[in-house]
Amino acid sequence: MSLIENLKTVRESLPENVTLVAVSKTKPAADVKTLFDAGQLDFGENRVQELVEKYEQLPKEIRWHLIGHLQKNKVKYIAEFVHLIHSVDSEDLLKEIDKQGKKHKRIIDCLLQLRIAEEDTKFGMEKREAQKILHHCKTEYPNVRIIGLMGMATFTDDEKQVRKEFVFLKDCFDYFKFYYPYLKILSMGMSGDYKIAVEEGSNMVRIGSSIFGEREYN
Ligand SMILES: *Cc1c(COP(=O)(O)O)cnc(C)c1O
Repeated sequence: MSLIENLKTVRESLPENVTLVAVSKTKPAADVKTLFDAGQLDFGENRVQELVEKYEQLPKEIRWHLIGHLQKNKVKYIAEFVHLIHSVDSEDLLKEIDKQGKKHKRIIDCLLQLRIAEEDTKFGMEKREAQKILHHCKTEYPNVRIIGLMGMATFTDDEKQVRKEFVFLKDCFDYFKFYYPYLKILSMGMSGDYKIAVEEGSNMVRIGSSIFGEREYN
């Protein structure tokens, strides 16, 4: 199937309230352009350098999402243009994003990444830390706006396990939303598990291989 057909198939499988972030990591800018021309606006990358390179080559209307682990010393490269940072996993990082936001005279939208997987390889913070940050971020970090949560489930075929992790994240989201009603984005679900994520309340999915095809790393 062609890229555009893949995009269409994925889009049609999503309810209207779910935002699709097309994850273009390792794929050429030309593929992004093809999908942009077909109406896709949101794209995600997990590495800063690749994100910056594509940003420079492609139409400025594209909304770029940073979805992978972000090192503090690299925030400065994306602060000017990034649409949403999904992977805030420490207060130190948030502090740096705030600093760079101020420098560029903008408020940078962020999600707090919670650790929901049993695997210990995934980044993310605990619920308690997220709670602590939400409590004071508005006053302490005026150039950051936390608008939701992100999480990655365990990479497994065990659907029950994955569902349990997504349910946990949705519960955290609902709990925080009660105190901070401005939270609106729950980013969960990738190619292999987005249908479960959507059933469990996701409103933003990050999908790569189902659209662009399998990735080759070398
Ligand atoms: C690569 C990646 C995705 C997309 O993965 P696919 O399985 O190709 O859909 C989603 N989220 C994050 C954080 C990623 O790094």
